[in-house]
Amino acid sequence: MDCVFCNIANGEIPSKKVYEDEKILAFHDLDPKAPVHILIIPKQHIASAWEITGENSGIISYIFEKAPQLAKELGLAGGFRLVNNCGNDGGQTVQHLHFHLLGGRSMEWPPG
Ligand code: 5GP
Ligand code: ZN
Repeated sequence: MDCVFCNIANGEIPSKKVYEDEKILAFHDLDPKAPVHILIIPKQHIASAWEITGENSGIISYIFEKAPQLAKELGLAGGFRLVNNCGNDGGQTVQHLHFHLLGGRSMEWPPG
């Protein structure tokens, strides 16, 4: 298995976990871009948003259900940004679907 996030999900690569259940894992990004920068991943390997179908899209609503709860627990009462980068032009560098949960500072728009 050469997928970094699968290996984080199965514990082979250590991570600073903030939340875990049977479907998803949330952990601190190695190279944070904000005071709070968490990655939320499905435990199931899905390469990117391109691979979301009617069959597996339930995991997206599940992540969007959990993200605001996590944001609250992490003290982001002022708001947060939840980002998915997809493909080369989208800036995706790890080929396992993930959402960046960022907060603790005010964000620029457009992100650049
Ligand atoms: P992407 O650029 O694909 O949207 O985001 C990948 C993110 O994963 C980057 O922010 C990068 O810092 C983070 N990352 C890459 N490898 C690791 C790792 O081994 N552990 C953790 N915690 N984060 C990682
Ligand atoms: Zn994977």
